[in-house]
Parts: sequence; structure tokens; C-alpha cells
Amino acid sequence: MNVLVVAPHPDDESIGCGGTICLHADRGDRVAAVFLTSGEMGLTDLSEDDARRMRERESEDAAAILGISSVTFLRRPDQHLEQDTVQAAQALKPILEREKPEIIYLPHERDFHRDHRASVSIVQKAVGASGIATPALLSYEVLTPLTEYDRAEDISAVIRRKLKAVCAHGSQVRQFRYDRALLAMNRFRGVVAGAGRYAEVFRFANGSMNGIPLACRANPGWHRLYAAIQEIIKVVPAESPFILVDDGCLEAAAWIAPRRYIPFLEKEGRYWGKPPDDATAIRELERLRKAGAGFIVFIRSTFWWLEYYGGLHRYLRAQFPCIQQDERIVVFDLRSRT
Ligand SMILES: [Zn+2]
Repeated sequence: MNVLVVAPHPDDESIGCGGTICLHADRGDRVAAVFLTSGEMGLTDLSEDDARRMRERESEDAAAILGISSVTFLRRPDQHLEQDTVQAAQALKPILEREKPEIIYLPHERDFHRDHRASVSIVQKAVGASGIATPALLSYEVLTPLTEYDRAEDISAVIRRKLKAVCAHGSQVRQFRYDRALLAMNRFRGVVAGAGRYAEVFRFANGSMNGIPLACRANPGWHRLYAAIQEIIKVVPAESPFILVDDGCLEAAAWIAPRRYIPFLEKEGRYWGKPPDDATAIRELERLRKAGAGFIVFIRSTFWWLEYYGGLHRYLRAQFPCIQQDERIVVFDLRSRT
């Protein structure tokens, strides 16, 4: 999966979504970052050129810690993005076309910093002008908390790396303890959202309600599906790839990222149709398990498998713990045998 992080200034990427970037990078996703400005007004004791140079170097250090593989500086005017949205969108467009992101992380439109607010319309303009398939736009919070969110990501496992990346922006942390602020914020999110010790939260920004694209909301099945996706996010840990039995219909990659799912049957990463018999299904299950699949998830529209492929179902029941079973999903933990 290709992921793009849009930061109005150096350090927004680390503070807003540094933990989730680590989870993406550890998963093998390609993460690119674009800095709209280089924060050249953020260091009053240096000339703009010197400040820009210093902050770009700090951004590169932070990017290396987080696992970002490509960093681009657009060098639009710091503190004046509002007057520059057309030009900034033009500069961003070729990067979208190069990276073809399925997810873009960006600030939210209620942020108190006007450069952050301006970056939302810059991204929307650039996505509209580019020829790429519309990505999921996920808004992060920097120093203005989101009042509502669609996604809470448990970042406990990577919180130290995130802190290290934030502290790589040394010129900023010396002026203000961003590291302390985000530690408190992420701890608060973890407790309130019930998403582990430390969490980052995100809100879908593009014409969606609770993450459901407007076009899909006309379909009543989507609300059920959305509930199933939220449950998968709760039950399946972010670091574990899982088999999703969805008959190739869900196309949920953007909704469950940074989790990665494997279609079933699978060939070269793609959905490969239904198994002809139980023996094939069990063989393929074991192959994917050996390749790292930690869970198998059935959603309501594929509950019929549990009867039709009775041999597979009996095999799963006999070998692995069923950790979730309700009217939305059935999940087996493939990591240890019963
Ligand atoms: Zn900023």
C-alpha cells in the first residue's frame, strides 16, 4: 500500500501521525512525506535560509526514524499558506501522481493554525486536479484536538520511536515541549478510546460520514459492513496480517489500514476465487498461516462458508481458538493451536 503524509511544517508529521507511520512502515507499506513549508519562520534567531536548512535536515532525520522512504519539500511560504493554496496544490499534484497514495494523512480543518487549515484545501484541490483514484483522507491532530474521530490506532508498541522522531526536530522541542504534549495526548486517547496505552486518532476528511463514502451510504448493507470493519479493527492487532473471507467484495484496504488483510483464496496478493473443496481451503489456509497470517475473519456475507465448507469449519474449530463470534464477524486466532 502507498501512503502519503502531508505536513504543513516540519514536525507535524511526527506529532500528528508518527506512530501510525511506524506501523505502516513496519508492515512494508511505502510511506512518503511532503512538507508544504519548511517552517522557515519558526526560528527567529536564524535567517530564513538557515532556518529552512536546519528544519529540512531535522525532517530527514525524523523521517529515517519513522521509516518514511521519500521526503519532498515544496518550500511554500511558512505562515502564509492561506494565500498560496492554488500554487501549493499545483506543486503537490505531481507528487500525488508519482506516489499514487491509497491513504493521505493530513491536518484537520478545525486546527487553530491557519497553515494547517489551509493544507486541507490544498490537498483537496490537488487530489481533484490529479488523475489518481480518490484516496482515503485521514485527518490527524497536532495541538488542536479533534472533537470527533473515526479511527483510534494503538501505537503503544512504537511510542518510543515516535518520541525519538519528534525530538529529532530539536529546534522546535527546545522552544516548546511537543514531546510532553503528545505523550499526554496519546495517553489520553488510548484511555478514552480503549485503544491500548497510547493511541493516535483520525477523522475521515473526504465527503464521508464515519468513514463511509457518501456514494456508499445509499446502500443499507454498508452500515452493517462498517460496523464489521470497526469490530475487526478492535479484535485484530495492527501488527498482524489476517485472512479476510469476503468473496472479493469488500475492498477494505483503506478502511482497515495500517492492518493488512489477505484475500482468500489468494494468488500474488490478489483475490483468486472460492476454493473448489475443503481440502484446497485447508491447504491454502495453512500456506498463508506459515507466511504470517495471524487470524482468519469471516464477515456476515460469507457466513455461508461455515456450512458449505463444513470440513474447513471443523478444522478451524478443532485447531484454533475462536476469539470472536457475533452477528457481524467470526474470527479465529491462527497464531497458536488449541
Ligand atoms: Zn504545523
